[in-house]
Amino acid sequence: MLSGEVALVTGGSRGIGRAVCLRLAKDNAMVAVNYVNYGSNREDAEKVVADISEMGKKAVAVEADVSDYQQTGNLFKKVEEELGPVSILVNNAGITRDSLLMRMKEDDWDQVLDINLKGVFNCTKHCINKMIKIKKGSIINISSIVGIAGNPGQTNYAASKAGVIGFSKSLAKEVGSRGIRVNCVAPGFIATDMTKKLPQETVEMIKKQISLGYLGAPEDVAELVAFLASPMASYITGQVISIDGGLTI
Ligand code: NAD
Repeated sequence: MLSGEVALVTGGSRGIGRAVCLRLAKDNAMVAVNYVNYGSNREDAEKVVADISEMGKKAVAVEADVSDYQQTGNLFKKVEEELGPVSILVNNAGITRDSLLMRMKEDDWDQVLDINLKGVFNCTKHCINKMIKIKKGSIINISSIVGIAGNPGQTNYAASKAGVIGFSKSLAKEVGSRGIRVNCVAPGFIATDMTKKLPQETVEMIKKQISLGYLGAPEDVAELVAFLASPMASYITGQVISIDGGLTI
């Protein structure tokens, strides 16, 4: 379904990003697995590439901190050299630095906004002109239900994820006539390293509010991203699609 397409997934080494890389490769896209160089990210990204190679598909791991404008410029240059121009961009990289606003440090605000929101600007900025030139593109931004509904202890995260929604809708209006679609996915609670940090009693409380009664898996989100990237979603742009097991009904 995605033969000939080049997909770049930011923060693709683990969690939702990893599942998206594998799912897009399954649909025959060539995949650039972006990672930021800390902890085990490099090895994890290389493992994703190896798993994709084992499927008989093509992938590369490319390092860049998405909050750095220059590094993201180099990221797109490298991907284009190795695979071709990016036609599917999945802005997935994201962090949390939770605390109530009265205790929040300036740095907690800046880091979350720099990675979750400026990172989306940086990556999109570095591929949008090329997408216009090749007359196709699907940009999928991973927002959050927290960007829609808010959550105590997450003013920084909510602001970043709401910002991503405003960014996506505006860009969808700018580039729709050029054949480029821009959509957001808003996950609820998905079992990844990000939600592993939550205390068990919080998780149990959240589960009670989820209609389906359990946390989602990264693969659930990956299915939605693959759909939005595909020609099956060719008339869908500027939308925010929640995937939360009914949490926000
Ligand atoms: P995760 O922590 O497992 O993955 C986040 C990824 O982003 C990691 O690979 C990390 O290395 C990468 N990253 C962080 N800073 C980066 C930077 N500066 N440059 C490049 N990469 C960077 O968490 P996840 O749950 O897989 O989250 C993926 C996305 O989904 C995030 O945007 C997150 O906000 C969003 N989300 C997650 C949930 C959830 O319940 N897990 C819910 C809603 C939205």
